[in-house]
Amino acid sequence: MLWEYSPSPEATDHVRIASRYNLFIGGKFVEPHSKKWFETINPATEATLAEMAEADAEDVDRAVREARRAYEKVWKKFAPSERAKYIFRIARLIQEKSRALAVVETMNGGKPIKESRDIDIPLAAAHFFYYAGWADKLEYAFPNRNVSSIGVAGQIIPWNFPLLMAAWKIAPALAAGNTVVLKPAETTPLTSMMLAEIMMEADLPPGVVNIITGAGATGAALVSHEDVDKIAFTGSTEVGKKIQRALSGTDTKLTLELGGKAPNIVFEDAPIDQAVEGIINGIYFNQGHVCCAGSRLFVQESIIEPVIRKLRERISTLRVGNPLDKNTDVGAINSRAQLEKIQELVDSGVEEGAEMFQSSCSLPAKGFWFAPTFFTGVSQSNRIAQEEIFGPVLSVLTFRTPEEAIEKANNTPYGLSAGVWTEKGSRILKMAQKLRAGVIWANTYNKFDPASPFGGYKESGFGREGGLHGLAPYVKLS
Ligand code: NAP
Ligand code: MG
Repeated sequence: MLWEYSPSPEATDHVRIASRYNLFIGGKFVEPHSKKWFETINPATEATLAEMAEADAEDVDRAVREARRAYEKVWKKFAPSERAKYIFRIARLIQEKSRALAVVETMNGGKPIKESRDIDIPLAAAHFFYYAGWADKLEYAFPNRNVSSIGVAGQIIPWNFPLLMAAWKIAPALAAGNTVVLKPAETTPLTSMMLAEIMMEADLPPGVVNIITGAGATGAALVSHEDVDKIAFTGSTEVGKKIQRALSGTDTKLTLELGGKAPNIVFEDAPIDQAVEGIINGIYFNQGHVCCAGSRLFVQESIIEPVIRKLRERISTLRVGNPLDKNTDVGAINSRAQLEKIQELVDSGVEEGAEMFQSSCSLPAKGFWFAPTFFTGVSQSNRIAQEEIFGPVLSVLTFRTPEEAIEKANNTPYGLSAGVWTEKGSRILKMAQKLRAGVIWANTYNKFDPASPFGGYKESGFGREGGLHGLAPYVKLS
C-alpha cells in the first residue's frame, strides 16, 4: 500500500535564474551573432524558466577561435600541476553550490530532486576531483610514453544528465591539457550556464572552456568546424551516425557514446526482493531517461510468477509527481517530443500483442508525464524489445537456461550495459564474459564511479569515459 506523505518540496527561493543567458565565449557572456534566443522550460509545469542564446555557425567559429587561442597561448603552456589547481577549484565550487545546482537540474530537466541532489551533482564534482588528480600524473597514466594534449575538443551532450555529462566531458579534456567548446542539449542548458559562472569564479583563463547553447544545427556546425581536433558526442545512435559520416575522411578524432537496450537478467537463485528493487531502479530511475537503463528484463521461467507479482506491487507504490518533492520517485518526462516518442512505442507494444501493466497513479494536469509501465508476453521481435524507448517502460521476457539468456540478451544492435542477478559467483563471471556489453552490474544496477570506465559495444558507440580509459581520447601518445 502507498503511504500518503505530506508534500515536502525543496525550496527554490535560494536559486537565481536569470531571465536571459548569452553565450559563454572567451571567458565572458556575449550576445549571439544570430541575435536569436529560445525559451527553456520546466517540463513538470511547462513554465518558461529563461531565454537561451541560439549559437549560429559564426558563434561556433568565435568559440572555436577562442578555444584555439587559449590552447596555444595559455593552457598548453601551463605546468600540469597548475592545470590541476583550476580543476580542483571547479570541483570544490560545484560542491559549494550543489544545492542550487540540484534544484536547477530538477527544474529544467524534470528529474526527482533526490536524484539530482544525491547522484547527478555529487558525481559531477567527483569527476572533476578525479581528473584533477591525473592532470600532473599523465606519465604514470600512460607509462613509458610521451604524452601530449590534442588541442581543441568539441563536446556535445544530451539532456538526461546535463551537468554530469558536462563533467564527464570537460574534466578529462582539461586534465589532459586541451581546451573545450561544449554544446549542451537544447532542453537542458541551465546548469551548463551555472557551470560557466563557476568557471569564471574559478578564474579559469578565458577561452579554456566555452559553452554555447543552441539546437541540433549548433552541434552540427561544431562538428563540421575544421579547427576542432576532437569531437566527443553523447546522444542518440541516429545523430552519432550522422556525425561519423560528417567526419569520415577528416583527421578529427571521435568518440561516441550512444543508445542502449540493456538486459537485466534474473536467475532463479537470485534474492527476489533485492532483484525487484534493482529492476525498479534500473528502469524507473530518472524516468528511464538513461542510456544504460535495464529496459529488457529477462526472468528465468521458474520464478516469473513471483517476480511479476512483486513488480506489480512495487510499481504501484512509486511516487510520481512534483520533481522538487523530496519523496518523489519518478519525475517528469523531459520534453513533449520525448513523451510522444514513448507513447508511440508503448502503443506499438499493445498493437503487437504484449500485455501492458501500468501504475494507476494520478498524473499532474500540466507538464509531461508517463506512468511507470511494464509489458509481459513480449517477444524478441517486438519493437519494444528492440528499440530504445528512453522512458519508464520495461519489457519482460523469459528464459530457461543461461545459454538462452545470453543469446537473447545479445540479440540487439546495442551493447552498452547489462545486469545479472544470481547467488552464484561463477555464473556471474561466465555471464560477464559472454554478454556483449561495456558495463555489467552484478546483483546491483546503475552504479557509477569516476574511476570506472563507461561505454559501449556495437551501435552503443566507441570510446570510454571515466577512469584512465576516459583520458586516452584526449591525449597524443608517442
Ligand atoms: P540527440 O538528439 O542525439 O542529441 C544529443 C546532442 O546532440 C544534443 O545536444 C543535440 O542537440 C545534439 N545534436 C542533434 N543533432 C545534431 C547534429 N546533427 N549534429 C551534432 N549535434 C546534434 O540525443 P538526445 O535525444 O538528446 O539524448 C538521448 C539519447 O542519448 C539516447 O539515445 C541515449 O541512449 C543517448 N545517451 C547515451 C549515453 C551514453 O553514455 N552512451 C548517455 C546519455 C544519453 P539538441 O538537444 O538541440 O537536439
Ligand atoms: Mg535531439
